[in-house]
Amino acid sequence: MSTRLAASESTDIQFVPGVGPRIANYYRKLGIETAADLLYHVPRRFEDRRALPRIRDLEVGKSVSVRGVVTRVEMRPSRRGPAPVRAILSDGTGQITLLWFNQPWIGKKLQSIDAEVIAYGLVRYGSHTLEIHSPDFEILGEDDDSASFTSIVPIYPATEGLTQKSIRKAMAGALEVGLSGLEDPLPASVRKKFSLVGLQDAIRQMHRPESEADFEIARRRLAFDEFLAIQLLVAVRRAESKREPGISFPIKSIRGAQSFSLFGPETEWAPGESLADEVARMLPFQLTGAQQRVVNEIWEDMEAPLPMNRLVQGDVGSGKTAVAACAILAAVRCGYQAVLMAPTEILAEQHAASLRKLFEPLGIEVSVHLGKHGVRDRKNNLDLIQTGKARLAIGTHALIQEGIAFQNLGLVVIDEQHRFGVRQRLALRQKAVEIPDVLVLTATPIPRTLSMTLYGDMETSLIDELPPGRKPIKTHWKRTGEREKIYASVDTLLREGRQAYFVCPAIEENEKLQTQAAIDLHRRLSDETFSHYRVGLLHGQMKPAEKEQVMNQFRAHELDILVATVVIEVGVDVPNASVMVIEDAHRFGLAQLHQIRGRVGRGSHQSYCILIADAASDESRVRLETMVETQDGFKIAEVDFDLRGPGDVLGTEQSGHVRFKAANIVRDREILEEARLAATAVISADPDLARPEHAGLAQMLGRARGDDAWISLS
Ligand code: ADP
Ligand code: MG
Repeated sequence: MSTRLAASESTDIQFVPGVGPRIANYYRKLGIETAADLLYHVPRRFEDRRALPRIRDLEVGKSVSVRGVVTRVEMRPSRRGPAPVRAILSDGTGQITLLWFNQPWIGKKLQSIDAEVIAYGLVRYGSHTLEIHSPDFEILGEDDDSASFTSIVPIYPATEGLTQKSIRKAMAGALEVGLSGLEDPLPASVRKKFSLVGLQDAIRQMHRPESEADFEIARRRLAFDEFLAIQLLVAVRRAESKREPGISFPIKSIRGAQSFSLFGPETEWAPGESLADEVARMLPFQLTGAQQRVVNEIWEDMEAPLPMNRLVQGDVGSGKTAVAACAILAAVRCGYQAVLMAPTEILAEQHAASLRKLFEPLGIEVSVHLGKHGVRDRKNNLDLIQTGKARLAIGTHALIQEGIAFQNLGLVVIDEQHRFGVRQRLALRQKAVEIPDVLVLTATPIPRTLSMTLYGDMETSLIDELPPGRKPIKTHWKRTGEREKIYASVDTLLREGRQAYFVCPAIEENEKLQTQAAIDLHRRLSDETFSHYRVGLLHGQMKPAEKEQVMNQFRAHELDILVATVVIEVGVDVPNASVMVIEDAHRFGLAQLHQIRGRVGRGSHQSYCILIADAASDESRVRLETMVETQDGFKIAEVDFDLRGPGDVLGTEQSGHVRFKAANIVRDREILEEARLAATAVISADPDLARPEHAGLAQMLGRARGDDAWISLS
């Protein structure tokens, strides 16, 4: 039977020449099901194997191809494991040793052949001759196929069972059967405007580039397509939401007395009072400039007869709750209900406590929905919402699944968006008769490139100012040789009545070692340096009750110093603690350093953060310098993102959803901007992608829609 029956881009991977049923399973593990999938398998890097010097002319430290006959194969067994294979290659000008470890079959094979061998790898010094360790190699046949070996060779992401050589062979097959069937989704006008090569050329060039520049041209085209798919989805969503009728809240005109009857007798809105005045009465402080600006942005959205879809970003402590309260108050005073959802029960309880304090004096009833509530409480709370007696419901996102029926939901506030996906947002919308406004709050500093991709369909607001009275934390990077001086300044602060943290690093994710480091430091500080102070210890291997006890002591100032591992990163709030000493600071990630530093600077005292580290790698120097230079969570996130890429910044759990093959979201900002321009232009000219030249884009959009989770961070 011919394997070429269905020679097209949709050919099953099994029938691509050079694959077959057994190997096909390995490809499926990589998510490659068809010839087209294989064509989109982007090389990880390239090896330029074109240099083929004579063995006599080899230079140590260069990666080159060598060619010759194998004159001897040695496999001397060693006590430590299988014998390494040493093959002596000779080309008449000299000899070089090719060396393989743990691959005895290579030795057997080389012993049995009588042909030339070509190999590629890094030339290094050896005991008798120069050596190449674990070279890629080919045995040359009668027809001398060295040309394809000594070219620019793509190195692909592989998996067990797939060698680079077999992937290259399959790729040749896929190019043969699949390439001509690939239709270019981009209209010629877009290609021209952004100087992009055609799809087929790009794919051929990506797998068989004649230079690095060639590959980059090809990759840019494919990256553009990947970004474009998302940006089309974003542009369509934006356009769609502009067509949906939303609630127009009469925020600027509404007054206490005029609308009194709307809310029933339990509301206590002073007659004639404007919403802005009531806000001033509700909050125990004045909004910062940044908070006021963001509240205005939200209120403007709420007044507009379109559904609001706004993301509020603000570092921890920037006062997002107050901003949310202003939005909620507006919705309630305009006669609607609001719901606030938090990612965890603890956060929901915290919100409930602070919002009740604000709203109950105004006569606004709040219902709280928690998992720990019994059946009766739960039913009671649901009744409060359904009858409209409660104007604000607070709970976790389980609220959505429980199917709360609101009397007239007008505003949805979601805390920490990255736990909520697009689908969940839509599900909530559908519960309301009218489409409610959506406000999302997040403390995760998301670099702009990423937020453009992930939340491109939302408007964004930034609270870029902390409430007054917080002094910036003075951050210093000190060398280990300066410990004495550091301890002396800590001593001064302690004598003034302040408290100090000492944090020990995460040592290669090993909790035992971390704990040991903390125990050692605790002993050193409590027995020697600070023996006249009360020094406590906190680490991850303590029981919860012990941890709580130590924290309570520190909070009550029964301890002056707390030595801790990174367990301190979250949830610790002791305003009197004004100095944070971070040991071996170069071992921490940037986001982590920022979080740890955030434990001080919470009171009115001048706070300090001291990073102890000797200069290590370039990367750690950038991290430490960034910490010294700025306290801005967003700037720090940008740098972190550049250093590590999106996966690490967001944590592996979330990064799985941003899958790009050709695009690199960190480096490809310009391509992303271009794709965004292209998408916006196309959608505004042809909102339904109905024009024939947009058929390919319509398909692209359909696939992006089908893969909704792709752009949500849930
Ligand atoms: P976030 O949710 O952004 O982390 P919160 O809303 O919890 O921050 O606010 C942090 C603290 O700052 C709270 O104790 C809050 O009362 C206080 N706060 C918020 N805004 C202001 C302000 N404008 N002036 C003074 N204190 C404020
Ligand atoms: Mg609106």
